Amino acid sequence: MEESPYRFRIDQHDPMRVPGVVFATRSLLPDSGADKSLEQVANVATLPGIVDASYAMPDVHWGYGFPIGGVAATDVEHGGVVSPGGVGFDISCGVRLLAADLDRTELGPRLEALMDGLSASTPRGMGKGAVWHLTDRSELDGVLRGGSRYAVERGFGVERDLTRCEEYGAVDDANPHEVSERAVERGARQVGSLGSGNHFLEVQAVEEVYDDRVATAFGLHRGQLCVMIHCGSRGLGHQICTDYVRGMEKVMSRYGIQVPDRQLACAPVSSHEGHAYLGAMAAAANYARANRQLLTDAARKVFAQQTGRNLDLVYDISHNLAKIENHEVGGVRRSLCVHRKGATRALPPGHEDLPADLRDVGQPVLIPGSMGTGSYVLTGVPGSPAFASTCHGAGRVQSRKQAVKAERGSDPRRQLEAQDIAVRGASRRGLAEEMPAAYKDITAVIESAEGAGLCRKVARLVPIGVVKG
Ligand code: 5GP
Ligand code: MN
Ligand code: MN
Repeated sequence: MEESPYRFRIDQHDPMRVPGVVFATRSLLPDSGADKSLEQVANVATLPGIVDASYAMPDVHWGYGFPIGGVAATDVEHGGVVSPGGVGFDISCGVRLLAADLDRTELGPRLEALMDGLSASTPRGMGKGAVWHLTDRSELDGVLRGGSRYAVERGFGVERDLTRCEEYGAVDDANPHEVSERAVERGARQVGSLGSGNHFLEVQAVEEVYDDRVATAFGLHRGQLCVMIHCGSRGLGHQICTDYVRGMEKVMSRYGIQVPDRQLACAPVSSHEGHAYLGAMAAAANYARANRQLLTDAARKVFAQQTGRNLDLVYDISHNLAKIENHEVGGVRRSLCVHRKGATRALPPGHEDLPADLRDVGQPVLIPGSMGTGSYVLTGVPGSPAFASTCHGAGRVQSRKQAVKAERGSDPRRQLEAQDIAVRGASRRGLAEEMPAAYKDITAVIESAEGAGLCRKVARLVPIGVVKG
């Protein structure tokens, strides 16, 4: 049911506890034949303790149990649950933006050498190589507890980086004891690596600025070069999600919980299993942050070598996470477990969790589009719905398989190069899976998010060169 041009409602019906709300224009709504994500929005609305609504962002698409582009908050003190599927397999997958003190026009013919350098310094692909290969469990524990802080302590970055990370680079409450041996084993060899497919390191340029004051506060101006990094918690996060989905499936009935889809396996936040998952999830979140910090350090070294210039961190965000936060619901402040899966926190100006130099303008919100189109920087707005959240990308419209089929007979690398976008890494198939046609129109997604009152545009970035996982 259409409530406004940017807001649709799925009315509450049994066994939903709250309605579903989808922030999108009619043309961005998923095609119900091919994509079951609106059913998933309704399924999430059945979770014990859910408050307000089961929300979907304009980039919503099908995911494991919960849709990607979904936001759901449960009331911690009134039986609210936490669900690993509401966070996703790539725990704390996220985006970092680095701004150069160099403009696009000044780079000139050095682009190719810069791309070669970035390609060589960025470990990527399934399971192969990393900046760190940790053999010592106490070092891995340092990563799991300390996140970006630990990486900076070890010399991989500067103190200022941490002021531009959510939670100063590490979430509290990480509990490495709740991380299985298998997860540790998978993670130890991958700290400081991109991963595969959708993950990337991209050289971009600021093409347009929509709000000069905010852009200046973020350290961005028109024509400037930037580096965007998208990666997550690799095999460690994946294994943790797998472990806890299995574990919770077994105990759900003990807590009297019934869900319409096994992939929604969950447990009360206050239960033993809920606590254990949140401790392990926090450890994976810190791993992902250390990962992005190490790749930052590697990129900075190459950038300095090739151009003699620096890269400053604009911000680091996670778009797959559950977090205990205080929000007002029905006029009462409550402690909520906010699941954001393929959704980004977007704090408004004045929020107490922002660093002093961003307090007046709001949180930088980093939204990748695709390697062939563009990406956006946004900021949070006061009084936004959905617990201060917005979209996380353009969102898929084609499965990987469909995308490969659509690109049959064409040469994706050449298509990108014809647009003056340098490409490193990725197989032909890998590139085909990630072509712009596989994703929704990022500009339409951002307009919907803005139209729905979730965030505001600050700048648009265009790709110059991409290192693909
Ligand atoms: P996800 O975290 O869901 O895998 O990806 C987030 C978003 O990143 C996708 O929805 C898509 O819009 C965007 N994206 C995927 N690959 C690329 C890329 O190579 N470059 C840029 N700029 N964005 C990408
Ligand atoms: Mn990811
Ligand atoms: Mn991601």
